[in-house]
Amino acid sequence: TYILGIETSCDETAVAIVKNGTEIISNLVASQIESHKRFGGVVPEIASRHHVEQMTIVLEDAIQESKLNWEEIDAIAVTEGPGLVGALLIGVNAAKALAFAKQKPLVGVHHIAGHIYANRLEQEFQFPLLALIVSGGHTELVLMKDHGTYEVIGETRDDAAGEAYDKVARMLELPYPGGPHIDRLALEGEENIDFPRAWLEEDSYDFSFSGLKSAVINTIHNAKQRGERLRNEDIAASFQASVIDVLTTKTLKAAKDHNVNQVIVAGGVAANQGLRSVLAQKFAETNIPLLIPPLRLCTDNAAMIAAAGTIAYEHGKRSGYDLNANPSMLLK
Ligand code: ATP
Ligand code: FE
Ligand code: MG
Repeated sequence: TYILGIETSCDETAVAIVKNGTEIISNLVASQIESHKRFGGVVPEIASRHHVEQMTIVLEDAIQESKLNWEEIDAIAVTEGPGLVGALLIGVNAAKALAFAKQKPLVGVHHIAGHIYANRLEQEFQFPLLALIVSGGHTELVLMKDHGTYEVIGETRDDAAGEAYDKVARMLELPYPGGPHIDRLALEGEENIDFPRAWLEEDSYDFSFSGLKSAVINTIHNAKQRGERLRNEDIAASFQASVIDVLTTKTLKAAKDHNVNQVIVAGGVAANQGLRSVLAQKFAETNIPLLIPPLRLCTDNAAMIAAAGTIAYEHGKRSGYDLNANPSMLLK
């Protein structure tokens, strides 16, 4: 099967074609980062406008690059949520128009299912599987006993990990998005500030990052008042150490508790070098295989939507022309 995927949930206009849910035929992403940079974050109105401008261009390029013709495409998959409503609507409407014009089945996809299925473009899944999702809007541990079934066993109670990175980066006056900058600074810093770890209740797989964020603000503020100068590198290294400690410890515990056969990592923060290396280290000491996608598949793209859409399509899921954007869609 050839599935065409469309993703517009945030600030990337993306179209891709994937074969059998595992092989990328074409994968195009038009990023808007430059347009949002000067505002220090994604501006929803601007995002929607860019999606409108980019959609037909990216779509045509993705088809052309695939060298396929429309008869060969089996279905159209699109992110229906969660995300920015105005941004999602551009993708959903483009998908509906295409499905109607080309008379193809339409399949709505959950954005996080997409992040998870980005991994299947690298390697086949082994169930039961534990997915750690760490992105700009989500921090979750998801247990999968089979394709297309998702059980959220832990999630953040406040900020997402990526959100914490972006907020701390803003305090350090680093450009948006801040995650990669903190990651880079952390490499040169020392973990000499003792930031808190939010372990929560003893058996909880939930996360919390707002306390850590406040601790970083207070530390910077207090140092300033005392006339001390903290190195940004050390703040970054110490902040990142706290995030990684909690993420990796909880993931390892959940993987052992649920006897999983594979652990996969997904979402933009999976691009973090520190997180990748500590996870690799910790899982090397177990016999549980760990899969982390290459950087280009960690952040938003449409190949992951086509990959997740392939499973939904094979399971018989079909969306109607009444498909709507669902900004707070739940994963299930
Ligand atoms: P969601 O998927 O939850 O809807 P999103 O699509 O905005 O949110 P992604 O595109 O998956 O999120 O990831 C973007 C986030 O990843 C940003 O918060 C960014 O700072 C973070 N990020 C990217 N690279 C790194 C890195 N190397 N280290 C830490 N964070 C990073
Ligand atoms: Fe995302
Ligand atoms: Mg994004």
